[in-house]
Amino acid sequence: MSTETVADQRVVEAAVDAARTAAGWWAGLGWDGRRRALLAWKRTLTTRVEELAGQIREETGKPHGDAVLEVMLAVEHLDWAARHARGVLRRRRVPSGLLAANQAASVGYEPLGVIGVIGPWNYPVYTPLGSISYALAAGNAVVFKPSEHTPGVGRWLADRWAEAVPGPAVLQAVTGGGEAGAALCRAGVDKIAFTGSTATGRKVMAACAETLTPVVVEAGGKDALIVAADADLDAAARAAAFGSFGNAGQTCAGVERVYVEQAAYEPFLERLAELARATTPGEAPDARYGRMTTPTQAAIVAEHIGDALAKGGRAVVGGPDAVRPPFVDPVVLAEVPEDSLAVTEETFGPTVVVNPVRDLDEAVARANASRYGLAASVFTGSRRTAVEVAERLRAGAVSVNAVLGFAAVPSLPFGGVGDSGFGRIHGADGLREFSRAKSVTRQRFAAPIDLLRLDRQPAALHRAARLFQLRHGRG
Ligand code: NAD
Repeated sequence: MSTETVADQRVVEAAVDAARTAAGWWAGLGWDGRRRALLAWKRTLTTRVEELAGQIREETGKPHGDAVLEVMLAVEHLDWAARHARGVLRRRRVPSGLLAANQAASVGYEPLGVIGVIGPWNYPVYTPLGSISYALAAGNAVVFKPSEHTPGVGRWLADRWAEAVPGPAVLQAVTGGGEAGAALCRAGVDKIAFTGSTATGRKVMAACAETLTPVVVEAGGKDALIVAADADLDAAARAAAFGSFGNAGQTCAGVERVYVEQAAYEPFLERLAELARATTPGEAPDARYGRMTTPTQAAIVAEHIGDALAKGGRAVVGGPDAVRPPFVDPVVLAEVPEDSLAVTEETFGPTVVVNPVRDLDEAVARANASRYGLAASVFTGSRRTAVEVAERLRAGAVSVNAVLGFAAVPSLPFGGVGDSGFGRIHGADGLREFSRAKSVTRQRFAAPIDLLRLDRQPAALHRAARLFQLRHGRG
């Protein structure tokens, strides 16, 4: 926890009030004005990437390259949201159908007003910007409550906004812990976009239920990677190592479980073990990965390793000694019973469980037997198998022959199923998530059979009923 100020209910409400005023100004700028403002902020983030990466690194402990990559990905999304908001959300004609052929029908998407964004610490720029960029582009003002572990990053983003887009406070940061987040839920915002753990997501939903404030919940994951016998095992092992150990395993859509078809099991495990042994975390800017960001996380990782071994799993690389706070060395666990914590709960550390499966049916069944469903990956040499497996996986996103393939594709929506949450950020769905659809009809001429009148003629109803039978009774 830093020395940043802790916003209480009064401070949060004042920020929301200011945002409410700013929202009117922001909406009034129109599509072009908002696009220009968002792109000005984007240029600042891009030209000052080193400064921002330094702030991320200071608060999270991640290597310099990871921090820069995070900003690059976030900026890609910001650019997409700025440039596509108009095309996705502007009012457009839709077919009005046979029954209402006399009506011209159109749908447009309006901003909700003020969005409260509550963020996590693991990707303190990429993750909240997944909501902030799309909410702003859709015409809303935003009050952002960054994680208590990364308040400096949140403040930096809001300060750069104020410089790039002078005027009313369209984007503000309020800092503090859970209390500040809870205050934001109660402050009369029009929607809460929450990213964090499933347990906190439940609390956020409960608080928002009191005022019928809608929520998007982007929560945890226990993502599986499936390796088919015909896969490129070197590529699969490299991706598994990156997905499991990268960012010290503190990635919501990182790889936590690997299911490998029997024929490829031993060679895959060997390759992954080799990569794990060659990887060490550290403080250096060019380390493979850094420390555990929060002091409590190492204990959870240790508990999961201990439980997996106690239940009969095998430590192929590392083990309980790998946990040497604030660092955790890579841990590869094999043949871990499916009821172990390391299989059922989000570990959020640089550990991975690798289990053999008879065939891809069993792999899919095990991958899907989780209360989480954020993302998943499949490695196979067959395009047809890839599509089949991807269709059957219960997850919000699937990467084929890669991990996190969707993260840099701004037009793809992102979000989970089950305990991984609901609602979508990114892409056209992400823009609509922060908008309200409004339908408009304009009567072009009187209906030939007019049923919407008090003095409706029986003959008119009779004709309509006959048409109704012809139209729907057979087809
Ligand atoms: P967390 O749940 O502890 O905290 C998340 C945010 O909620 C923080 O800003 C925190 O201050 C706030 N908060 C805490 N209590 C609150 C309350 N009662 N009301 C309102 N806000 C409250 O999560 P974390 O440890 O910061 O982040 C890690 C978790 O986030 C992991 O589970 C990870 O998988 C998940 N995550 C998910 C995604 C995604 O897009 N699905 C992305 C990144 C991280």
